[in-house]
Amino acid sequence: MKLVISAGLVITPQESLKDAVVVAEGGVVSAVGRRGEFELPSDAERFDFPHAVLAPGLVDVHVHGGAGWDVMGIRAGGAKSRTRAASREDMERLLARHGVTSYLATTVTAPVKATLAALERMAESVVSGKNPPFAQKGRAKGGAPSSSRHDEEVRARAIGIHLEGPFISRAKCGVHPVKDLLRPSLARLNEFWKAAGGHIKMMTVAPELPGAEKLIRAAVERGIVVSLGHSDADLPATRRALRAGARHFTHTFNAMRAVSHRDPGIAGAAMTEPGATADIIADGVHVAPEMVDVFLRARGADAAVLISDGISATGMGDGRHRLGPFEVEVRGLRCLHKGRLAGSVLTLDAAARNVMSFGGWPLERAVRLATLNPARVLGIEAQKGVIAPGAAADLTVWSRNGEVLATFARGQGTVYAKAARRGRAR
Ligand SMILES: [Zn+2]
Repeated sequence: MKLVISAGLVITPQESLKDAVVVAEGGVVSAVGRRGEFELPSDAERFDFPHAVLAPGLVDVHVHGGAGWDVMGIRAGGAKSRTRAASREDMERLLARHGVTSYLATTVTAPVKATLAALERMAESVVSGKNPPFAQKGRAKGGAPSSSRHDEEVRARAIGIHLEGPFISRAKCGVHPVKDLLRPSLARLNEFWKAAGGHIKMMTVAPELPGAEKLIRAAVERGIVVSLGHSDADLPATRRALRAGARHFTHTFNAMRAVSHRDPGIAGAAMTEPGATADIIADGVHVAPEMVDVFLRARGADAAVLISDGISATGMGDGRHRLGPFEVEVRGLRCLHKGRLAGSVLTLDAAARNVMSFGGWPLERAVRLATLNPARVLGIEAQKGVIAPGAAADLTVWSRNGEVLATFARGQGTVYAKAARRGRAR
């Protein structure tokens, strides 16, 4: 199926093109440029967003669940939960509604047996980060949300697994159960790797643990992006881990030794180490708006990454919900387990809006932190996080003030708001 999407502004995001057009075929972008610069196919399905902004689909490297679904699928016996019977597809539709087209399914520390079983299940849901070969035919229907493929709303897809724990610090484990934490072990990593079918793309590690450097080297050899976090490390230990191949930081400031002017520690390194990238939960609750601004100024538009850290309760409203093996209480943006913050109910589009308001950044710059930057961290920026010939036709349509109006995933589109004129190509 051919697709022609035009918008008042297209953010690639290396460039901002006014009055531009994106052409896609078979789920892959074939051309992007200003209207009139190239000939449009006459047999394409056409979407016009004259007052909106077209940007790459968002990439979230830290998702635990959403819409009542927990990616681990672990149920603790006896615990009551208001979580309804949900499916992975429900979560993936919710993610897409918030502009996310690709995500890393992220574990929570659990007993080894449960983790292995969860990794096996999660691996089944992982699709390749490479471009899909398929091209689906479909006709649009009226009403919102409308989809180019009958009534099926588009979904985000898992492009890998993020192993968050068990190789993290007891002092900074957050709500990860202390009893299930492990010292770095190559044998365990191999077990996890096998269970996950080689789909582990990112692993959060505390650099100060004995054996961390060896573990980091082994993980990097497998192509895993090692992210430092859940850690009480000082600056020297953090730098040793970076030299061993770690190059990213997990939710800067949260579950980390606090920054001090005499002891910058791991959080100081997360903001300043050259060549490294770092992510942040920009909800104003996990990190104060002013400190989000500090982080943005320090890390800049090329190395800062937004994550949701979203859990099953995302999109479910207030109440009791599940996060891996334990329960959390959600009130507004706060998600608590025994009085401690336990994951978030932030969505990535809201994180981008917060960057606009906390940091005073324009949308063009803010979306980069949730598109090109995370794709670069994962080394998939030829396929994801960009609008360029050869990249997946994963696109998000934004209003000028940062609301998601429509999402296209691998060439399939769902319009959530009445913002589009559509029809056959002229
Ligand atoms: Zn997390």
